[in-house]
Amino acid sequence: MRIQKLNNLTPISQNYTVQPKHKSVDSNSVGSSKPMELRDLTYNRLQINFRGEIEKAALALVKQFPLEEKLADAFSFMKHGDLLITGSNLKSAQAAMMNSIPRVKDVIKRAFFIEDDKSPGILGFMKNSLNEMEVINGNPERLFLTTDGKEYYLDAYDSYYVIPGDKLKYKGKELGILEKPQSRSLAFHRYIYAKAFNFEKEAEKVIQGQNKKTLKELYQDKKPIQQVMFSDVAGADNVIKELKEGILYPLRNPKAYENIDLTHGYILHGPPGTGKTYVAKALQNEAGINAKYLNGLELESKWVGDSEKGWRDLFDEAIENQPYLIFLDEFDAVARARGGHDVYGDKVVNQILTLMTDIEDNKHDVFVLAATNNKEAIDPAILRSGRFGKHLEFKKPDRDGVSKIFDIHAKKKPLDENLNKEEIIQAIFEADVTGADIKRIVNDAYLNGYSRAGILDKLDRNTLTDADLEMFKIADEDFMKAIDNFKASRSSGKRKPIGYNRP
Ligand code: ADP
Repeated sequence: MRIQKLNNLTPISQNYTVQPKHKSVDSNSVGSSKPMELRDLTYNRLQINFRGEIEKAALALVKQFPLEEKLADAFSFMKHGDLLITGSNLKSAQAAMMNSIPRVKDVIKRAFFIEDDKSPGILGFMKNSLNEMEVINGNPERLFLTTDGKEYYLDAYDSYYVIPGDKLKYKGKELGILEKPQSRSLAFHRYIYAKAFNFEKEAEKVIQGQNKKTLKELYQDKKPIQQVMFSDVAGADNVIKELKEGILYPLRNPKAYENIDLTHGYILHGPPGTGKTYVAKALQNEAGINAKYLNGLELESKWVGDSEKGWRDLFDEAIENQPYLIFLDEFDAVARARGGHDVYGDKVVNQILTLMTDIEDNKHDVFVLAATNNKEAIDPAILRSGRFGKHLEFKKPDRDGVSKIFDIHAKKKPLDENLNKEEIIQAIFEADVTGADIKRIVNDAYLNGYSRAGILDKLDRNTLTDADLEMFKIADEDFMKAIDNFKASRSSGKRKPIGYNRP
């Protein structure tokens, strides 16, 4: 079996955007040898706390439990922000983790150490905000991971996520990831087998300093606004009507709306790729106003501990620069119902509601479009309040919608005159697609055509002429191949990497 390089997939370290940094350390230093405050902090704490002696008898008892069991028990209580380290001795584990921590772009609030000779070298485990477990290879050489019967490897200090059934191997030592521990009594001995260090308070301080900076970073729009207009959106007529009447017309004709109370908060809900962001961009362009596109998941992790201030700053900025559109993707990540578990969460929800009330009361020209794939997860307090009074549903297109979206994305593409368009539309529709999928299929078909017509070869040999491009047409078979590939990729993509952000 061929061994693949895990980081050829989506390396976690590159996708994580959360990076607590010391104020004096600029963002380009990620992964460099410059010290970070959290890193020092982790280091010092581990040193200080591990000086304590653990009772010998208790230790002997705990040694009877296999490492797999201890790990499974630890996983059951670990939460986002926890780092668990395993290794045969603390000193080397500390040193190894110092190399890895700068790559862990997440806030570490608590650390645990399990001392065990059976550990495949030094491993770190972290839970991400989606509750998935990530393993960090703290070893100077490759760590092997068996998952679904296939073997992969992680280079030194790289990380990847693990699920029950996976096996980690390093220098002849193997460790299995269990669903849950077999022995329940292990839970009583947690305090012995896993020493815990809590630096939530210190972490918060570091983060507070960062939040303001984070806000600035996020403000600098990463993506240029596509020049998309409402006419580039198909199959969302009702949504567009609501946005025109509720936001666009009032902005264009303030006088006509002087005595009308407007809704300033909209919830855009529906599956990923159904055009929520796209429609927001169209609205921004139609209205010609300022906008910010923020991701709730990013904010959630970046503003830990001081997110109320982050929200206030964001709204202040919007009010100062109104008319203004705030687009919040993955809104459920910041406004989800938390059942009181999360110390920050409920405060955030209240803060957002207060800020929305202020905008309403003062009739500011600030509109918030909050997008989610999971409306049910949103805190009922938000839904009930009326502050987000309009809920616009985005759906996968019907056959007519597929046809219109196809036309939009195929508009500037060289289609074969004899293309059997009806058949292609039907096949795309039957593949149960979103607008984003249609766009992808059209682009893939284009490239399939390039390959079929030898254009890619010519590009490779540097012999491509303008005439080649002028003659080129995308044919039926290119579309059919793209549709087949789309269907195949969907059925194989079971797991997605940790920290995966939609492009
Ligand atoms: P969401 O925000 O719902 O996850 P996006 O707005 O990011 O989805 O959609 C991704 C891309 O798919 C868009 O940039 C656009 O090119 C295409 N798309 C999605 N829905 C539509 C639509 N209704 N009409 C035309 N294109 C669409």
